[in-house]
Amino acid sequence: MTQTLEFTQQLSDHPKSAEERAAILADPGFGNYFTDHTAVVDYKVDAEGNGGWSGARIEPYGPIALDPSAAVLHYGQEIFEGMKAYKHADGSVWTFRPEANAKRMNRSARRLALPEIPEETFLESLRQLVEVDKDWVPNGDGEALYLRPFMIATEAFLGVRPAREVSFRVIASPVGNYFGGELKPVSIWLSEQYARAGRGGTGEAKCGGNYAASLAPQMEAEAHGCKQVLFLDPFNDNAVEELGGMNIFFVFKDGTLVTPELNGNILHGVTRSSIIQLAKDRGLEVQERKITIDEWRDGVASGDITEAFACGTAAVITPIGELKTKDGSIGSPGGNAGEVSMSIRKQLLGIQTGAVEDTHGWLTRLA
Ligand SMILES: *Cc1c(COP(=O)(O)O)cnc(C)c1O
Repeated sequence: MTQTLEFTQQLSDHPKSAEERAAILADPGFGNYFTDHTAVVDYKVDAEGNGGWSGARIEPYGPIALDPSAAVLHYGQEIFEGMKAYKHADGSVWTFRPEANAKRMNRSARRLALPEIPEETFLESLRQLVEVDKDWVPNGDGEALYLRPFMIATEAFLGVRPAREVSFRVIASPVGNYFGGELKPVSIWLSEQYARAGRGGTGEAKCGGNYAASLAPQMEAEAHGCKQVLFLDPFNDNAVEELGGMNIFFVFKDGTLVTPELNGNILHGVTRSSIIQLAKDRGLEVQERKITIDEWRDGVASGDITEAFACGTAAVITPIGELKTKDGSIGSPGGNAGEVSMSIRKQLLGIQTGAVEDTHGWLTRLA
């Protein structure tokens, strides 16, 4: 039914030189640098109350002019996505399960009263952007072009209601390892004062507001020498939920994987669902269920829980060495990079980078 939008293209007059780009790609870090272009699609509700997307375009990367009363600046009506494009050995560029991101963006849109974007327009915006900026896709170990689609309420209006003007955009950033440098187990801080999400809230929407609320606990984590925060559900026996921007898994001694069930508070991670599939392919049992902080502590003490890892597009799979709490630690500083965690990481990254066969049809070519 929905017709596909044609993208127009206005190329940058001042793209970075090949030398500047090479200097950036030599040490990209995470989220520091952006490519020369951006994809944009606008949404507007007309006088009859009918909404529609139009003006699909590629334009030079640069500041956005927004009215100071734009709804996003006051009420945080914003959602986003995150995915990676990898360069394969033959120079082609691929991304991982983008339809899942498009569907999730629309689920987030419904929760934040933003318009849904046709899946084909979402995918085409990625293709268009990566096609013009394909020289920006790094191909070093663990490196990728991080794609950040987002949607903001641009309407100039201070009343509280869903905005009638919205902008969807995609920006792209060459990235290395999320936690910097070589992959090694990370220390996580247990947030006991703050929760991330509440029943009926926005926990399973990928929205900026959730991240704003995670920054104070994140600062607490950093003050304790930790890179990420773990959130619990204090109204549900201190069930483990997830980290500020990553899902969590536990590996048991018998090979069973356990991850918190999707109970409305937890982000439906594409990495999470892919790991569940890969583990089942290996004949491992996977349980999506409630796991409390006490079960984690007791399981590590008894030897039943042998590994814990964080997962998400940015971090892929990153082993958790130690969970620090105000009453002591679970695990040990430095910890060990668990065998199961690292093996699944290798397989997943192998599929994404084209080194391992993609038997589930998870890859989509972008350029
Ligand atoms: C994006 C995100 C994740 C990971 O999702 P992926 O699709 O695997 O990248 C997990 N938790 C939160 C809160 C997130 O925002």
